This record gives sequence, structure tokens and C-alpha cells, in this order.
Amino acid sequence: MAITALTFDLDDTLWDNRPILERAEAEHYQWLSEAIAAAQTSPQTSFGDCYPLSAYQQHRADVARRHPLKRGDFTWIRERALFELVEAYGLPRLQARLWAAHAIAHFLDLRHDLTPYPDVVPLLDALRQRYRLAAITNGNADLKRLALAEHFPVMIAAGELHAPKPDPRAFLAALARLGATPSRALHVGDSWREDVLPAQRLGMQVAWVDAKDEGPRALPPGVHRLAHVRELPALLDRLTTQDSARQGG
Ligand SMILES: [Mg+2]
Repeated sequence: MAITALTFDLDDTLWDNRPILERAEAEHYQWLSEAIAAAQTSPQTSFGDCYPLSAYQQHRADVARRHPLKRGDFTWIRERALFELVEAYGLPRLQARLWAAHAIAHFLDLRHDLTPYPDVVPLLDALRQRYRLAAITNGNADLKRLALAEHFPVMIAAGELHAPKPDPRAFLAALARLGATPSRALHVGDSWREDVLPAQRLGMQVAWVDAKDEGPRALPPGVHRLAHVRELPALLDRLTTQDSARQGG
């Protein structure tokens, strides 16, 4: 069956996410510690010295464990962890909430200060002439804050739906909004567990962007390995050729 719709993962599929997250992680926390220190009237051990970045990371894991229904909503978990730490540091609850909200706003600004791989914009420009496109992300990248949004009429923030991938609901929501059946859609993503397996189980074709070179693996039917998203048009051309050969034969 000819492919009519494409769904895309974002982080590590359309851009290299690790340096973005590392920078956002360090800088928003540093900002918070300095901002609290600047607002203090009497000298005391700084917030960052009481709770170094590793303590925040640990506390976040703890918050995630205590709030299983929020799994996948990373922004909520971050803000909650910051709020609890600032309150534990000794600030009144309302102030702690405000500091956490400011720090999260700062984190999200940094999170969206990103550049897609150089090939991505022309690639999406060409693809959207032929296919309906959707983005499905577990992360807290908000496409509406990125220039890339114009390419995606459908955007699914799976974490905020509390149905993060590999939950199939995120894929089904995207397909419903694209008006496509799984057999006429192809998902593009880098994660074996969160992208490849759930999409393949729904009967979609999958372009697995194996950027981390996770090594040879027996690929299930309908799964195609790419080294980079720029190889996608060649794969789609191949699938179209195969499909018309099958129709013709
Ligand atoms: Mg990804």
C-alpha cells in the first residue's frame, strides 16, 4: 500500500539533542542558584551549594517515582522537583513556586534554542508536497516555539497526554488526525523501544534512524534502518517503486 502519511520523532531524529539538554540543564540551574542568592538579604550557603546539580537530578528521579501518573511529563516533574528543593532550602512555599516557575521558563527557552540538522528543513519542505506530516514527541520541545512548526500540521506531545511512547495512543492520535491508516503511514524515529517497536506493532512502516549505531539487529518486517534522516527520501522512493511493482504485477 502506498505511503500517504509520515510521523516524525523530534529529539535525536531531527536534531542532536544531547548538547541542547546538557546546556539547558546546567544553565537553568545555575541561573536559579544565582538569582536566589541575589535576592537574599543575609549571607548564607547558596542554594546551589546546598543542592548541587546532582542533587536536583536525584530528586527529579524521586519525584517521578512518587508521581507515576505524571510519567512522561518531564516539564511537570522538573518544576515539582525545583519547587520542593527551594522550599527545603528554607524559602516560603509561594516564593518556592515562583522560583521554580521562573527556572522552568528559563529551561524551556534554552531547550528551544536549537538548530535542526542542516538537511532537515529542505527535506521537510520536499516531503510535505507529497505526504501529510505529523510530529510525535515524548520530550518537552514545543514545536510551536520552533520555525519547524510550519511543516507539521499535526503535533502530538505524548508526555503531556500522559501516554508517552511506546504507548500506541500517541501514534493512533497522530494517524487519526492525519486521516491515515497504519498501513499507509511510516514513522521516523531514533529509539528502538519508543519509536520502532510500537509503530511496527501497529502495522506502520518504520524508518529507524540508528544514529547511535546500535549495531546490527534483525529487523522486523517493515522496519528500515537509516544512518541519518537525510536518507529518508531514498527509502521512500524505494518503497514507492516496490509498491508500484507489486500493483503492476
Ligand atoms: Mg528521539
